[in-house]
Amino acid sequence: MSVEELEDLLKCAVCLDVFTKPTGLSCGHTFCLECLISVQERAKNAKFPECPLCKQKFRAKKSFYWKQSVLAIALIELLRTKTR
Ligand SMILES: [Zn+2]
Ligand SMILES: [Zn+2]
Repeated sequence: MSVEELEDLLKCAVCLDVFTKPTGLSCGHTFCLECLISVQERAKNAKFPECPLCKQKFRAKKSFYWKQSVLAIALIELLRTKTR
């Protein structure tokens, strides 16, 4: 896999940049923590915000619903060492 392909995999669909604080939802998609918070803010009137990719409703932030993506963090580290 090339560095470019790896970078594409680690891009957030909301801000189109490499994840900062990658956070996984129950549907399996990963976004930046800040992006998820802004999605949640925009969906304030809806009972549950939706995943920007698959539209699955997700629960508002609770530490046990949102999980930090350890795999994504490790891959971003790898990407940084490759592009340095
Ligand atoms: Zn983002
Ligand atoms: Zn999703």
